[in-house]
Amino acid sequence: MTSNRLQSFLQDNIADLKERGLYNEIDPLEGANGPTVEIDGKQMINLSSNNYLGLATDDRLKKAAKEAVDSHGAGAGAVRTINGTLDLHLELEKKLAEFKGTEAVISYQSGFNANIAAIPAVMDKHDAILSDALNHASIIDGCRQSKAKIIAFNHSDMDDLREKAREAVESGAYNKIMVVTDGVFSMDGDIAKLPEIVGIAEEFDLITYVDDAHGSGVLGKGAGTVKHFGLQDKVDFQMGTLSKAIGVIGGYVAGKSELIDWLKVRSRPFLFSTAVSPADAAASTKAVEILMTSSDLNEKLWANSDYLKSGLKQLGFDTGSSETPITPCIIGDEKATQAFSKRLNEEGIYAKAIVFPTVPQGKGRVRNMPTAAHTQAMLDEALTAYEKIGKELEII
Ligand code: PMP
Repeated sequence: MTSNRLQSFLQDNIADLKERGLYNEIDPLEGANGPTVEIDGKQMINLSSNNYLGLATDDRLKKAAKEAVDSHGAGAGAVRTINGTLDLHLELEKKLAEFKGTEAVISYQSGFNANIAAIPAVMDKHDAILSDALNHASIIDGCRQSKAKIIAFNHSDMDDLREKAREAVESGAYNKIMVVTDGVFSMDGDIAKLPEIVGIAEEFDLITYVDDAHGSGVLGKGAGTVKHFGLQDKVDFQMGTLSKAIGVIGGYVAGKSELIDWLKVRSRPFLFSTAVSPADAAASTKAVEILMTSSDLNEKLWANSDYLKSGLKQLGFDTGSSETPITPCIIGDEKATQAFSKRLNEEGIYAKAIVFPTVPQGKGRVRNMPTAAHTQAMLDEALTAYEKIGKELEII
């Protein structure tokens, strides 16, 4: 029997979210998540994935995954420290370290797990963490789990960061202080001011942590935001995901050997949860190899992204502060944003509404994610739909 209190909690809260236009329906896809998707029997142009380079459906990755299933089976079998460390996990970590230009890498089951693993492994209640106000939820959860004092600084506001770093140091209250930021901010597509952040970190002896989930495969010719700014020796933690540009599933932290060795003995999702499957590890390794040997997909991604973004701007849409392929069309009101996205879907364009609490209230947007796998004809079709609906709903 379900508890009455649980039942009324769920009913009241779901009704409230629906009333405020904040209840996101989840659409099941029929078949693969590619440049087009099928939903309810309808083919649509997909502008909602994080599959930046189209690798999720790449034949080379599929082949690597199938071969790994044949040679190693379906699952890793155990937590890695017990007996689940496969040669495929070690190969992946070696390849990622080469890709990132760091001494070593530890891999996790997801990007989310990497953040909730790594931050609490080095920070505790005697420490403080300076965290950008727009950091991803998994960073926030990692910071909370560490029990360190969390000091949010205004988004990309370097004066605020410097001031808060100075106060934290001068208070003498903390053993260690970390500054943590997304490399690329996932809802706006702007890039962190890493050279300034690193400068402040040097001034105040801060630990530096960059979540590069959206920068890897995209910036720095694919190697990420840290490489983009040439700061490889200045950032302690380069966290990344294998689920976006890499096209598979998993996460990792790249850094100095001593740090990675520590994470292997102290990070809880590594110690208490089984690693990704052989197929996932092998497909990810293949994706990294592809990125290291050719820049074709990266160049195609940027060409498509520039084309879509400039087209939307010319139509009069507000793409905010985006500097990367993440291309928001900021509408504002939550219900208007949901209505816009629904009309796009009806016109065969799958671009999701992103509303509170994923973005601040009143900052609803339809987020477009062009990829290397889109054709120009697909992007033109999307722009035509944007123009039609933008006029119809009086947004442009
Ligand atoms: N960090 C950022 C900035 C992200 O956007 C995401 C994914 N939404 C994650 C971490 C989590 O990555 P994953 O999906 O691999 O768990």
